[in-house]
Amino acid sequence: MMKKQVLNAITQMRIAGKKPTEIANTLGLSVNTVKSHIRRHPDIPNTIYCLNCGKPVPQNEGRKMKKYCCDRCRSSYWNHRYRKGDDCRDLCG
Ligand SMILES: [Zn+2]
Repeated sequence: MMKKQVLNAITQMRIAGKKPTEIANTLGLSVNTVKSHIRRHPDIPNTIYCLNCGKPVPQNEGRKMKKYCCDRCRSSYWNHRYRKGDDCRDLCG
């Protein structure tokens, strides 16, 4: 049985876009432990990726879901959303 603190830490890191191996290394757990935890808890929010550049977007607990990694990406996405084939990756470094 894992401690609640550990479960919270896994959840936070998942939201922040960490891979299971990174989470395992950070918490000193085995990758299998982390993976099976994620499997058994489908309620853990999925990582949100920036709609503009695809980078993981860290979420603030209890706040509105953020869909962009930065303001530049948000405005870029809105400016370009109706154009096809635009690559905005270079905008957010
Ligand atoms: Zn972005």
